[in-house]
Amino acid sequence: MAHEQTAEVVIIGGGVTGTSAALQLASRRVRVLLVEKKFLAAGSTGRSSAVIRQHYSNEITARMAKYSLGVFQNFASIVGGTADFNNTGFLVLVSARDEAGLRENIALQQSVGINTKIISLPELREIEPSIAATDLVTAAYEPEGGYADPVATTQSFADAARARGAEIWQDTRVARVVMERERVVGVETTRGFISTPNVINCANAWAPGIAAPLGISLPIQPERHQIALFQQQPQREKPRVVIGDFVHQIYYRPEGPALTLTGSVAPDGQPIANPDEYNSSADDEYIVRVGECLAERHPAMTHAFSKGGYSGMYGVTPDWHPIIDEIPQGSGFFVAAGFSGHGFKLSPAVGVMIADMVTRQAQPTAQLERALFRYARFAENDLVRGKYEYSIIG
Ligand SMILES: Cc1cc2nc3c(=O)[nH]c(=O)nc-3n(C[C@H](O)[C@H](O)[C@H](O)COP(=O)(O)OP(=O)(O)OC[C@H]3O[C@@H](n4cnc5c(N)ncnc54)[C@H](O)[C@@H]3O)c2cc1C
Repeated sequence: MAHEQTAEVVIIGGGVTGTSAALQLASRRVRVLLVEKKFLAAGSTGRSSAVIRQHYSNEITARMAKYSLGVFQNFASIVGGTADFNNTGFLVLVSARDEAGLRENIALQQSVGINTKIISLPELREIEPSIAATDLVTAAYEPEGGYADPVATTQSFADAARARGAEIWQDTRVARVVMERERVVGVETTRGFISTPNVINCANAWAPGIAAPLGISLPIQPERHQIALFQQQPQREKPRVVIGDFVHQIYYRPEGPALTLTGSVAPDGQPIANPDEYNSSADDEYIVRVGECLAERHPAMTHAFSKGGYSGMYGVTPDWHPIIDEIPQGSGFFVAAGFSGHGFKLSPAVGVMIADMVTRQAQPTAQLERALFRYARFAENDLVRGKYEYSIIG
């Protein structure tokens, strides 16, 4: 039977963003109810490569990545449960075209206290012995990087939020956000009406569809991005660390003990018309192409077996950075969406930033500012600019 419910804050979307926000708000004793139309991590999060790096090209995102890494490194004590963080290290490989940008970025990252440096080719071969590096000009290494398990992370955020009093409804869709006199008063869901003065739209690629009936146009384009998996023969070398290879425009990392997971750093996704219906498999041509790139970089992978692949969905904004804002100010309608290809690693920081925004009280120790992610930047044509043309890096 449908029933009416109240909450101080309703979060729409049970991905890594919504659950991290739920945890942070519940930790501040806010009565929060998260509504997820399918199940936790059913959206982009469940298909995320979950690479964790601090390699960003502006100070704010670098700080967010640094803060978040600290949470992943101490997940059991800070959050509880597990993120299954694998600290493999992270390498960036660039050709002459991106060398100046890389050097600038490394200097910026070092200035905010990130443990990273430019390395020589012999150092590179020591870290990743099976690499072929003749065409490289410059490489940088971040020893604290790695990857995690996005589903375990989301589940752990949700468990920790529940333990602090948050309620989570799965299999429940928000049909409409209801506003009266320019203020949020509640949401209509498939389980009934929830009366609330605050809604946070964490629905990523679905976020524009939730905002549109309120007259708010969110520039978030759903895109299909592919992943290919390769299995090395047991006696041969395979990549050990997470690598962003800008020369071949791929990234790759170990996936469990046997596989190498490979994706693209180029902005080569295909637009998706309906986020509920897209081709979630990988194309044969894509698997062949990235397999060839991987084998060029790691000749030992030439004889690796293709283990197929899959596609996931990014919610992409024009500058590949999210919108974290209240729209319009004072309405109680908050948006934290459009994390494009890099929202997983930032999620611990984003949860804090959302809680700061909704409670209107910043956590002073975190030094996380959200002005960069304001909605008005699109209308003002003041987009966030990176130092590479690979927007996914941020
Ligand atoms: C293939 C791939 C690789 C990636 N690799 C990385 C990486 O290596 N590192 C990194 O940092 N990031 C990566 N990302 C990006 C990162 O995973 C995403 O930015 C992040 O997971 C977004 O999380 P989210 O919670 O904002 O959105 P989502 O996980 O998409 O969650 C949105 C949720 O909202 C729910 N929802 C939608 N509409 C409604 C409604 N009306 N009512 C209720 N619920 C609703 C959906 O079911 C969904 O569960 C990758 C993404 C993909 C797809």
